[in-house]
Amino acid sequence: MNAPLDAVLAASRRPIRELPDALVSQIAAGEVVERPASVVRELVDNALDAQARQITVRLAGGGVRVIGVEDDGHGIPPAELPLALKRHATSKISSLAELESVATMGFRGEALAAVASVAELSLTSRTAAEPHAWRLDADGALQPAARAIGTTVEVRELFFSTPARRKFLKSEATELAHALDAVRRHALARPDVAFTVWHEGRLVAQWRAASHDQRLRDVVGDDFHRHSRPLAGAHGPLVLQGRIGHPEAARQRADQQYLFVNGRFVRDRLVAHAVRAAYEDQLHGSRQPAWVLFLQITPELVDVNVHPTKIEVRFRDGQAVHGVVRHAVVQALAPSREALAVPQEAADEVASLPRGVPPSVEARPVQSSLGLADVAGAPPRSYGAGQPFAREPRPDWPQTLAALSAAPPSQAAAAAPVGESWPLGRALAQLAGAYVLAENAQGLVVVDMHAAHERIVYERLKAAASAGALAMQPLLLPQSFAATPEEVATAQSAQEAMLALGLDVAPLSATTLAIRGRPAALPDADLVELTRSVLADFAEVGSSRAVERARDDLLATMACHGAVRANRRLSVEEMNALLREMERTERADTCNHGRPTWRQVSLRELDALFLRGR
Ligand code: ADP
Ligand code: MG
Repeated sequence: MNAPLDAVLAASRRPIRELPDALVSQIAAGEVVERPASVVRELVDNALDAQARQITVRLAGGGVRVIGVEDDGHGIPPAELPLALKRHATSKISSLAELESVATMGFRGEALAAVASVAELSLTSRTAAEPHAWRLDADGALQPAARAIGTTVEVRELFFSTPARRKFLKSEATELAHALDAVRRHALARPDVAFTVWHEGRLVAQWRAASHDQRLRDVVGDDFHRHSRPLAGAHGPLVLQGRIGHPEAARQRADQQYLFVNGRFVRDRLVAHAVRAAYEDQLHGSRQPAWVLFLQITPELVDVNVHPTKIEVRFRDGQAVHGVVRHAVVQALAPSREALAVPQEAADEVASLPRGVPPSVEARPVQSSLGLADVAGAPPRSYGAGQPFAREPRPDWPQTLAALSAAPPSQAAAAAPVGESWPLGRALAQLAGAYVLAENAQGLVVVDMHAAHERIVYERLKAAASAGALAMQPLLLPQSFAATPEEVATAQSAQEAMLALGLDVAPLSATTLAIRGRPAALPDADLVELTRSVLADFAEVGSSRAVERARDDLLATMACHGAVRANRRLSVEEMNALLREMERTERADTCNHGRPTWRQVSLRELDALFLRGR
């Protein structure tokens, strides 16, 4: 009975064959060329590698019909033009040793070959040594041509031979947007190079050579620049620079997050995770911060060729990168304490005032010339959008404590008594049981007292918690749970690191883990859930802040309960104490949920309200 089956099997088997070169290229192209934007990226990469100073991209049909990239780089000698189109042909490395140290935009040597296999590609190029240019046509003919030193690559009818793939392309407008994005990323990385993009004869983008800062404004926008802050960090062979957006200016989508590693745009979950961790308690839920980061790292410590489209890299020491990024972002987000230094007289006064969690003084009527005490019983948080103090977040980056205290004192401040030189000024009154009104040199300060106090209490709890190590409390009855093989492996390799977080986890079998000890600071946490998220963090980034995060969540809840409630009347002394405490607290500009804790209403704005010209 077996004979027929054998025959069927034998007939269905086909011999192993080497694939024809063209087919191999087409398969490889599937990895490299996804859409017109991928072609644009590769061609601009090549132009930059050729030391171009000026790059022009001309598109038609969203890049599907035509992509032309012209550069003024060093060109390709005519004898090498056919080679440029061959797979695994590159001028960028010649040995395995070089593979380790190369600092170009990537050198898999297959981009042009891949593009040529799925589109009509022609190359026109001239080096300094040639009296004129040479053009290599899609059909392989080489002939003299005219152009200045540099290279033009023209790609027509992308995926003309693979209609199935062409169907996956989106609308012309979408493809154009992606292509433009690709150029935008290059432009951010290389402010010293001029970029021009045309679509069907229409100029769609132009960035002249500029300073780093100017290019950032030109490409990401003045808005981002205004609502962001510079950042810098270094650690051994790592140097980090860039700008990070104010938590208040966070966005719905992660569309303004740019990471460049050695001048190349990449996506990296590790870095994204590190940034996110730094914003952790200043961002609300799923809001996405905006950031532009430039990471310089010795080429030996990063593999840039792990991904066919070179959009991902692999760091040799991922943990170091994670640490540097997180630290630098945290630093940039928290105004330095020196910048917030309070004058000595103020500090003395603060020392004598009640502080703590929460103010335990009985409510006293507000001593206010405005007589706001009567309003204190009104329901808080009920302001319409049109009101001047509406709670609508209005991102205003320079309006931070640091900026305020660093600003040169105005004439008014110089003449004013000492109290008015405090950044947040002198308390005047309480409004609607929710706001503290104060006067400083710039005008009126409005503080959301609950949000501000919550931040203060939270930062204080956090400092106290991290001063003592995260203690571990052994469990009388170990708690076991079913785990994936990956979780078991991670638990083994990260056992010690987890102990340091107060989690004692050991494998019981290939698919079971036992929790033998828990962080003492988290008596109520769901242990299995906590362990799982810690393991996931370790597996992904080699370290975990899940325990600290859970602890911080807990502290945030505690802080919220510990902070002054709305409608509680504060004395002027208490209000002043709150203001001074804010000036001394890191990240006091935003509450734990990323909302602002205070606003400045300048005299100019007040004058405008009353139509008073000054
Ligand atoms: P890779 O960039 O990985 O080396 P490519 O297929 O992108 O592979 O390019 C092949 C080779 O063609 C490059 O190594 C380079 O020598 C040459 N080349 C491509 N584009 C340009 C250009 N715009 N200017 C000068 N040389 C270029
Ligand atoms: Mg290339």
